[in-house]
Amino acid sequence: MRAFLDNQCEPRTAGATVISRRRILVAEYLHEICSFNPVPTRYADFFVNQGEQILRFHSQIGSEISGAMQVFRSSPQIDVIPTFSARGITSGGVIPAVDFARIEAEWGHALRNAGPVDAAYFAMHGATAAQGEHDPEGRLLEIAREILGETIPFAVSFDLHGILTDRMLQQCDAISVYHTYPHVDFWETGQRAATLLLRMLDRQIAPVIAKVEIPALVRGDELITESGLFGGLVANAKSIQQHPQGLSAGYFIGNPFTDVPDLRSYAVVVTDNAPELARREAEQLAESFWNDRQRMQATLTPLTQAVERALLSRQQVALVDAADATSSGASGDSAEILRELLNQRCSRTVLAPLVDAAAVDAAFAAGVGGPIHIELGGSLDPRRFRRVSLVARVRLLSDGLFRSESFGQTWNSGRTAVLESGPITLVTCSRPVHLFDRSLFLAHGRDPRQFDITIVKSPHCQKHMYADWCQMINVDAPGSTSANLTSLGHIHARRPVFPLDQIDSWQPVPQLFSRGR
Ligand SMILES: [Zn+2]
Repeated sequence: MRAFLDNQCEPRTAGATVISRRRILVAEYLHEICSFNPVPTRYADFFVNQGEQILRFHSQIGSEISGAMQVFRSSPQIDVIPTFSARGITSGGVIPAVDFARIEAEWGHALRNAGPVDAAYFAMHGATAAQGEHDPEGRLLEIAREILGETIPFAVSFDLHGILTDRMLQQCDAISVYHTYPHVDFWETGQRAATLLLRMLDRQIAPVIAKVEIPALVRGDELITESGLFGGLVANAKSIQQHPQGLSAGYFIGNPFTDVPDLRSYAVVVTDNAPELARREAEQLAESFWNDRQRMQATLTPLTQAVERALLSRQQVALVDAADATSSGASGDSAEILRELLNQRCSRTVLAPLVDAAAVDAAFAAGVGGPIHIELGGSLDPRRFRRVSLVARVRLLSDGLFRSESFGQTWNSGRTAVLESGPITLVTCSRPVHLFDRSLFLAHGRDPRQFDITIVKSPHCQKHMYADWCQMINVDAPGSTSANLTSLGHIHARRPVFPLDQIDSWQPVPQLFSRGR
């Protein structure tokens, strides 16, 4: 028996390559804020998971973590240690200090409890801000370094709307960033970060990161990667990854509504121990972006004119109210387009979303079929939005729990009421919910295809949702996420930055980051 066991053991101990199991820590902090939304993002506005719950959640969606998990699971001898995940339920205002302190503490606690690990993967957005902390992601990565040590590799995946600070890069070994907008490559971005992490663990690569700050903020339809200018720029970045020493490349365009000192755009290139290549390519990416900055601005139609056009159009129309885009961090309570439709005696059928908890309460009190006389709009951001008076009938009431058209996960708009007033149908929610797809409408039995005009509170949706079948009009309405960036009043963003300032000449200055593996 003894001899048999020894024989079985021999092949595993023979030779120099004994692969021991490796432990990879996984954590997530994914949220985006708008500094101009007066409603703060509280701790309760995050969906927080710990330990194995994280993997269960991600197994149901095509996220960065699920992409990374596919890589980790297909590699032998890897143990994944899921620790902490905080995902904003929807976007919102600046996080109060007390709420970020709680996230920071729970993040630290979970990472400390992970035990020794060989590497770490973090999924982050990159565009949050907390009271007293302009760079929460940088702070969380710093804490991770303090706890996990200076020597293990970190790979981090980001949203391209992130703000890529030096503090973040000082903690990272390698990063990946989305290449699509509207975003559809969450999974692939996680997969790329995880692949780099495993290659670092195997000592196959020694990443060097080059970053170039571009003093420009961009917006508008040219950012749609499938059809716009930005798609060509991203394609150039992706081609760098085909170089034998190219590991990762892309752009960060920042969320123009996250008013923090480092708000601007960035070109970033990660190479395998090739600092000159990284520097040169990042410089070229930045220059191309800078040259196209003027064309990557939103073309907006003044509110009155936009409504006139929608009412005169023979087509179905989407009035795009990106100024009140909940997924960019706005409050969702603007009735400004609705007001103008009423002013112009709208007779076309209209479908619109609106956050107004008091109106929903009134609808629940009246019950289905009940008439109500309500004041709508400006319930959360009264400085920007005025009230509109409306007599309506309650057509449907719900608890606001529904499945996302995009991800299949459960979203929550709080108690929700469908109200009808003449040709106007309002899906009125108690709390903001993502509106970058049609989930809220469809879940409440209202299909935009059945209406002449739909108010779309998102800068862009996937093409099939609206653009394929209706006329899109980008409206210059007031709002905390207006693409009319000069209207917002940035106070923290480092100046000058285009288009808030005119910049006559600019030269790219690459910065290199390497943890010297
Ligand atoms: Zn984004």
